[in-house]
Amino acid sequence: MKSARPAVLLATMFLVGCVVTVNDRVLVGKERVALWQEKLVIAHRGASGYLPEHTLPAKAMAYAQGAHFIEQDLVLSKDDHVVVLHDHHLDSVTNVHDVFPDRARADGRYYVIDFTLVELRELAVSERFKLSDGEKTAVFEQRFPLEKSSFRIATFAEEIELIQGLNRSTGRAVGIYPEIKSPAFHRGEGKDISVAVLKVLKAYGYDEQQGSVFLQCFDASELQRIRDELFPSMNMTVPLVQLLGTGPAFRAALIPAGMKKVASYADGIGPSMQLIVEPDSVAGKLKTTNLVQLAHDQGLVVHPYTFRRDLLPAYANDYDDLLEIFLDDIGVDGVFTDFPDLTVEYIESNL
Ligand code: CA
Repeated sequence: MKSARPAVLLATMFLVGCVVTVNDRVLVGKERVALWQEKLVIAHRGASGYLPEHTLPAKAMAYAQGAHFIEQDLVLSKDDHVVVLHDHHLDSVTNVHDVFPDRARADGRYYVIDFTLVELRELAVSERFKLSDGEKTAVFEQRFPLEKSSFRIATFAEEIELIQGLNRSTGRAVGIYPEIKSPAFHRGEGKDISVAVLKVLKAYGYDEQQGSVFLQCFDASELQRIRDELFPSMNMTVPLVQLLGTGPAFRAALIPAGMKKVASYADGIGPSMQLIVEPDSVAGKLKTTNLVQLAHDQGLVVHPYTFRRDLLPAYANDYDDLLEIFLDDIGVDGVFTDFPDLTVEYIESNL
């Protein structure tokens, strides 16, 4: 018989161990990492290797494939609904050009925040594409075909209801892993996306079930604001994850003092895999950084992105090899993947 799912273990640990809550820092360093010692499979935008990203079918498939957490990227509509889309533009995954041809801004882009939820509902969602001279080309050629079947934009609340509903009907405890997108952009538009997201989390009980949620953002100052101002004022707290990209803005976090600072407001990091293994590495001769060690020394969990069977780094022979490098050899605590099924299979048969 298989052992209990990590998400169940997490929930249990948080429930039984009232002195080991994450956010009050009772545990430090390696002890805190040990809270999440199971390897987590985080469905990146759902089972997006198989169905259009961030659609409810992609989320249901990720759930059925055994993901432990399912990711939501979050942006706001004109009428302040929190909706699940990777970008604050609509151009690359919907038919907005056909439905609302005259609603682009001066830069030619269509902004989610210019549309009400009712209008967003009119759009068909498809696999991610590039548009050039009116021609759409799929970003991932072998994935779900463009403009087939029927997929719609969902709200954050609807997606939570899907996952919580499945948790009830299956008896499993799959978590959510929301990302606040572009808080500075939203502020410039007169909207506070972080408050809107936290309200939904609280309404659905995620301030009380801390083993079932991680809240992620690239914006370090926004995460600190959430920790220092919004959590106390909204009387809630959830584990925070600092996302790290490859750009210069994130360099400060890659040294011990920077990582210590991250640990003062976050519980984990979500780095690009390129910050852990340099992308010009060759098979058998990996150039690994000390990022994971730095983070673990500060008690931070490490969940790198993005693990894709159809977009492998040159140093990995195949998808299992890539997982072996990160999960077994380097020891990350979980991965964001477009292919939850393959990742669950690997973990269940190898770890
Ligand atoms: Ca994301």
